[in-house]
Amino acid sequence: MFSVAGNLQRIKSALPPQVRLVAVSKTHSAEAILEALAAGQYIFGENKVQELVAKYESLPKEIEWHMIGHLQSNKVKFIAPFVSLIHSVDSLKLLEEIDRQGAKLRRPIHCLLEIRLSTEDTKFGMNRTEVDALLDSFSYRHMGYVRLCGLMGMAAYTDDIQQIKNEFRSLHQMFKELKSRYFSDKEYFKELSMGMSGDYTTAIEEGSTLVRIGTSIFGHR
Ligand SMILES: *Cc1c(COP(=O)(O)O)cnc(C)c1O
Repeated sequence: MFSVAGNLQRIKSALPPQVRLVAVSKTHSAEAILEALAAGQYIFGENKVQELVAKYESLPKEIEWHMIGHLQSNKVKFIAPFVSLIHSVDSLKLLEEIDRQGAKLRRPIHCLLEIRLSTEDTKFGMNRTEVDALLDSFSYRHMGYVRLCGLMGMAAYTDDIQQIKNEFRSLHQMFKELKSRYFSDKEYFKELSMGMSGDYTTAIEEGSTLVRIGTSIFGHR
């Protein structure tokens, strides 16, 4: 029988200890989120600023909210006061605005860089050249209020498990290269956000530390 608590328990019992679960609650009701919270799930992910803010305001404050969807610079100010992790940073311009809002609030904001894994051109995210340009920039090196904690990526929407595996593996490889080149003395650069309902077991095999799961917890949207 379908239950949010039962689904959570089944998924969580299969996660290795180094992997945290982001329950993706987009489009789902406050009641469904409260049911998950009662079952011990504290981290929730949303992909739209307006919905994220509305849920933050109406739900218990112990929830850790993660922004996982495409973020426009002009909307950063609405989530900067409370967001725990932004998974979807895909430009220097966006990171500059996050730093500006963090500075105003004197609140360091934790972020991941979103990497484009698949060649499907509908996907957001940066390539390695763009990431190097961002990390080498004067602007990034003088930011005081962003903390880059790792990388995020989405695999292609396909049944080809080998392709998915290769995409996650290349993200992990890029993570290791960036870690040694830019973050070797930064213990907080440690997160690899990869894996959704359809591919999280593969993502975990390839080194994920954060899985973002919606449908397998809350049902179809
Ligand atoms: C919706 C979404 C998920 C969760 O997808 P499911 O297939 O429902 O588990 C994960 N990551 C991002 C960025 C999403 O937008």
